[in-house]
Amino acid sequence: MFDIAIIGGGLAGLVNSILLSRAGLKVVLFEKNQYPFHRVCGEYISNEVIPFLENHDLFPLEFAPPNISELLISSVRGKSFSSTLDLGGFGISRFAFDHWLSLKAEAAGVQVYQNTTIKEVRKSTVFFELSTQNDEVFTSKLVIGAHGKRAKLDQSLNRSFLQKHSPYVGVKYHVKTNLPDDQIALHNFEGGYCGVSRVEDGKYNVCYLTHRDGIREHGSIEAFEENIMYRNPHLESLFRNSDKLFEKPLVINEISFDKREPINGSLFMCGDAAGMITPLCGNGMAMAIHSAKILSSFIIDQWKSGDLNLEALGNAYEKTWTKQFGTRLWAGLKIQDSLFGNNWASSTAVFTGKYLKPLTDALIRQTHGSPFS
Ligand SMILES: Cc1cc2nc3c(=O)[nH]c(=O)nc-3n(C[C@H](O)[C@H](O)[C@H](O)COP(=O)(O)OP(=O)(O)OC[C@H]3O[C@@H](n4cnc5c(N)ncnc54)[C@H](O)[C@@H]3O)c2cc1C
Repeated sequence: MFDIAIIGGGLAGLVNSILLSRAGLKVVLFEKNQYPFHRVCGEYISNEVIPFLENHDLFPLEFAPPNISELLISSVRGKSFSSTLDLGGFGISRFAFDHWLSLKAEAAGVQVYQNTTIKEVRKSTVFFELSTQNDEVFTSKLVIGAHGKRAKLDQSLNRSFLQKHSPYVGVKYHVKTNLPDDQIALHNFEGGYCGVSRVEDGKYNVCYLTHRDGIREHGSIEAFEENIMYRNPHLESLFRNSDKLFEKPLVINEISFDKREPINGSLFMCGDAAGMITPLCGNGMAMAIHSAKILSSFIIDQWKSGDLNLEALGNAYEKTWTKQFGTRLWAGLKIQDSLFGNNWASSTAVFTGKYLKPLTDALIRQTHGSPFS
């Protein structure tokens, strides 16, 4: 019997596992893929996480992640504006970062099962039973759902956000190109936006969010890029002057920003599984790390007191989670809906932004947290 079982080995699952195991709990983590692997993600991490990562020896210094301190936004037609980022961020691929953290987890004593999908979780009176795709069964006293934005498991947990289909598709490449090291660009195109920023080893991440129907209409991703995205000259220049490092783009469908809940029955949700912020905010990874810090601290405190009361723990976590992240999720969605991927709105935003840096600073403040340790 494990003390804690964690479903999903992204940032939320891995950080929880390391902190809980270092505190002396017996932890098992299940990841359906095998490290290292690529994910659809813009790979820009807000600097708000640096004090925490450094304090816990989790900052991936050996990859020399580039520091990103400037934001460039371009409109659908390519009119652009740039501004310094007060807090800024750094770039590292999930291929490198998640793998590195999984080794840290193993070193901390976490039992990491890769290529292992949890298909069902059942609760008996005193413990949980988790069954894998091979019908192996593991037991634990507490379960953390850190399985990301959408998983088959959510069906068996009857989660309400699955009831609606989502039109959003995410596409990602790594490329070699020639752009400033310290800049994150958000380029608009009709029906979407594309983030571009550097990660380790001189590579750049190109990641965009758009609607499935737009791509279908053009028959293929390549045709969509040429017919729609190239209308923004920044994107045309980027695609024409870059060497793609993947044979084909990485694509995910059904990205939903509908409300989820940090507690599902007696399961503790963390990271995207608890709530997903729109990608343009560049804050999802910081939220995954921060929510893992919050959840593991609550669990460790209760564990030390010798009285594991799941209901009290759930109430305390839900309250703190909502206070910390509720407004960010809401603001991110409003900004995405009103400013991005729309010709008039994105031109106006770029025009206004030229004169009103305080406006962009305020938007960033609405969707980011303060540094935490
Ligand atoms: C297009 C796009 C661009 C983005 N860009 C950025 C950005 O630039 N900056 C930023 O901060 N955030 C960005 N995000 C958000 C960021 O990727 C997420 O917020 C972050 O990955 C959440 O981490 P997580 O650990 O909660 O989930 P994930 O990283 O998704 O990890 C979940 C893990 O669970 C595993 N899993 C799922 N189901 C099971 C199961 N049943 N059993 C076992 N394992 C399972 C999955 O394989 C996965 O490894 C972006 C998101 C999208 C879609």
